[in-house]
Amino acid sequence: MKAITQINSLKIFLNQARRKNQTIGFVPTMGAFHGGHLKLMNVSRRENDISVVSIFVNPTQFGPAEDFSSYPRDKKRDCSLAKKENVDIIFYPSVEEMYPRRYGTYVDVERVTATLCGVSRPGHFRGVATVVAKLLNIVEPDTIYLGQKDAQQCVVIKEMVRDLNFPVKVRVIPTVREADGLAMSSRNQYLLERERKEAPVLYQALLEAKQVAMEGERRVQRIIELVRKRIENLACAQIDYIACVDAETLQPLEKLEGKVLLALAVKFGRARLIDNIIFHVRN
Ligand code: AMP
Repeated sequence: MKAITQINSLKIFLNQARRKNQTIGFVPTMGAFHGGHLKLMNVSRRENDISVVSIFVNPTQFGPAEDFSSYPRDKKRDCSLAKKENVDIIFYPSVEEMYPRRYGTYVDVERVTATLCGVSRPGHFRGVATVVAKLLNIVEPDTIYLGQKDAQQCVVIKEMVRDLNFPVKVRVIPTVREADGLAMSSRNQYLLERERKEAPVLYQALLEAKQVAMEGERRVQRIIELVRKRIENLACAQIDYIACVDAETLQPLEKLEGKVLLALAVKFGRARLIDNIIFHVRN
C-alpha cells in the first residue's frame, strides 16, 4: 500500500494504472476507521483492480461551532487497517494541498440540501459537494463508494454527479452496525457510557416504525410520532429532526408511498448521531 500526500504524485500513479486499463474504485473518508469504512474498502477491492481511499478531515464541511479541531485523527491506525483491506493507495492530503491560497470555488447542490441535516448544518453539503467534486477530478475513479448511513450525502453526490456530468458510477453500501444495532460512526467515540447505552434505541425506533408501516399505516405524521415518542423517553437524547421523505428527492411525503426514507438526527451529549432506514410502500 502506498501513502500519497501530493495531488500530482497521485495523478501520475493513477494515469499509469489507467493506461493498463485497470479499473479504479474510490472511497472518500475522514479517517478514524470503523467497520463501515472497512466494508466500503472491501467492496471496492472486490470490484476494481485498484482501490484508492482518501483521508481528509474537510474543514469546509464543518460549521464554526462544530468538531473540526477535535474530530478523531489516527493516521497510523487507519493505515494499518486499510492495508489489511488490501487498499492500494491511501491519499492523505493536507488542508493546504486541497485548499491552497486564494481558493474560491464551491459547489452548491440545490433543493436536496435544503432539508434534513441541511437545516441544522448550513453550508455542510456545500463543503461536502465541493470536496467530493475535487476528489473526483483528482482520482477520476470508475466507481465511488458511499455509505447509506449518510443517506442525504448519497443523494447530494448523486445529484452533483448527474448535474455536472462526472463520468463515475455511484455505489451506495448498506449501513454497518454494532451488534446492538447502533450505526457505526467515528463520532460514537464521543459517547459517554450512559449515552452509549441509550443510543441503540435510534435504530430500534426506526425498525418499529417501519414495521407499523408494513402493517398498513400510511399517515406520515403517525410514523414520525412513533419514533419521536420512543426517543423522547431517553434521558440523554436531544432530537434534532425526525423526517419521513421521498428517498430520491428528499421532499416531504403527504402519505407513505413508494421508496420512503425515514431519517433522524439526535444529539447525545457531544455526539450528533444520524441514522435512517429505507423501505418500499406499495399501495
Ligand atoms: P466519514 O469518514 O464519516 O466521512 O465516512 C466515509 C464514508 O463511510 C461515507 O461514505 C459514509 O457514508 C461511510 N460510512 C460511515 N459510517 C458508515 C456505516 N456505519 N456503514 C456504512 N458506511 C458508513
